[in-house]
Amino acid sequence: MIKILFAASEAHPLVKTGGLGDVAGSLPAALRRLHQDVRLILPAYRSILERLPDAAVTAQFEVPGAPDTVRLRQATLADDGVPVYLVDVPALFDRPGGPYSDPQGREWYDNALRFATYCRAVVQVATNHAGLDWAPDVVHCNDWQSGLVPPLLMREPRRPATVFTIHNLAYQGVFTWDTFQYLRLPADLWSMHALEFYGGFSFIKGGLVFSDRLTTVSPTYAREICTPEFGAGLDGVLRSRADRLEGILNGVDYRVWDPARDTLIPHRYTARAMQGKQQNKVALQKRMDLAMGPRTPLFGHVGRMVEQKGIDLIIDALPALMEEDLQIVILGSGDPRLERELQDAAARWVGRLGVHIGYDEALAHLVEAGSDAFLMPSRFEPCGLNQLYSLRYGTIPIVRRTGGLADTVVDADAETLRSGAATGFVFDEAAPAPLVAAVARAAEHYRNPPVWRDLIGNAMRQDFSWRRSAQAYLALYRRL
Ligand code: ADP
Repeated sequence: MIKILFAASEAHPLVKTGGLGDVAGSLPAALRRLHQDVRLILPAYRSILERLPDAAVTAQFEVPGAPDTVRLRQATLADDGVPVYLVDVPALFDRPGGPYSDPQGREWYDNALRFATYCRAVVQVATNHAGLDWAPDVVHCNDWQSGLVPPLLMREPRRPATVFTIHNLAYQGVFTWDTFQYLRLPADLWSMHALEFYGGFSFIKGGLVFSDRLTTVSPTYAREICTPEFGAGLDGVLRSRADRLEGILNGVDYRVWDPARDTLIPHRYTARAMQGKQQNKVALQKRMDLAMGPRTPLFGHVGRMVEQKGIDLIIDALPALMEEDLQIVILGSGDPRLERELQDAAARWVGRLGVHIGYDEALAHLVEAGSDAFLMPSRFEPCGLNQLYSLRYGTIPIVRRTGGLADTVVDADAETLRSGAATGFVFDEAAPAPLVAAVARAAEHYRNPPVWRDLIGNAMRQDFSWRRSAQAYLALYRRL
């Protein structure tokens, strides 16, 4: 049995802003089902403490730079029994708003101090200095918020092995020299071979340089981030560590995302009994004020409204798309300019384009269940989860050939349709015209029911369960 401390800044269902939350909620549970001793460690945000009012203090210690004593609280993740440690420093984490930004959506001014303190607390636990009488074999860090853990652990005489997973290289935690000093980080970490990054310093670089092993969330993204186009300034660092870097696809929590047992959708269905899907389509059309049309192909999209996701490509493609006989629903929030453009577009194409600005878990499930196809024209996509959900919901994904999208969706052509491998529609260039062409191709197949039924069957048969991914991580831990 391997002892794993899993460090992440969000974990479903306690707190989630995106894919990292899904992974940190599911992977530890999957490892536990493989009989490993895995424990999660998160910042004790107010929203988490409200959900876990009984999380008792199990340890107390000081870390440099923190405004207060760190209290470590302990709880258990509801269904799965995964122990959770909460790093409680009220001055840093007991506030309204999200994990990274205030209620107005502005990044917290003291994020460097918040996550440096979190990292230092993780190091205390990892080195068994927190008084828990538990010493992990492996610390598994995730994204920039835990990026200082590996460099700080390197300085410890006895330390566990470290794994660092990149969920999205675009978010790096870059701060200034003044902040570096204010955080009282060890002076020798200010070096181009350590944290220094173009005159500032970068949390994520600490993870990339000092971890024993690096992973990211798909094989294609692992290759892409070693190139200048996708490397976000860190491709050189990653190329120098390419022998330590591998891609492991994320899994899907099929207890939450499966139309046969989804409790958030009005009508459940399976590959054999698909009537429910048609009923969900009606429910979705009603909910989004679309014209009723059982035979009009309905294309869904859910995601953060940022350029990464190619939502601007969808917006630019709308005039051409709306020429076709189809409907589109879009759920998301993010860049206020993109939100406004979409709302304007919805006012222009009433009854054909439905837009909901906001974060709505239940509606996300209904979009997956009620749409015929799902749009994911991402410019880059480390893994992507919605296309995996779409496959399981028989909602044919239309994706750009990048990152995890390239690894999980098989384009429908004569050959793949014949062999039963086809699961979606894939296009290459990040521009509106190729997206429109892919949608037109999907709409054409949709009008051929036997072919569309085959596609749905192929999609719903795909297995992206966590068990597989967890086994790959376990093999990696064992190699350490
Ligand atoms: P990323 O992590 O880059 O945001 P992923 O596809 O990996 O993208 O994961 C996104 C997750 O967040 C999915 O579970 C998706 O359903 C969810 N999500 C994103 N935006 C919304 C929203 N507006 N409402 C509900 N769920 C959302």
